[in-house]
Amino acid sequence: MQEVRCGHCHRKLAEAIYTRLNIKCPRCGTFNHLSATSAPAERQSSVAGRTLVDGITSNSVPKH
Ligand SMILES: [Zn+2]
Repeated sequence: MQEVRCGHCHRKLAEAIYTRLNIKCPRCGTFNHLSATSAPAERQSSVAGRTLVDGITSNSVPKH
């Protein structure tokens, strides 16, 4: 579980597992917009795969 605290007065608002959360602090009235830092990263394998294929293609050209 992750502690959710107000960014303005640092009051503890909740404990939660979340990806995105909007919560209003009941003490100071500040809206806290939170997003989890552990979001899955985008895959970059397509770029690496394309480079690898280009290398194989240029090396496998038959000589006459
Ligand atoms: Zn607050």
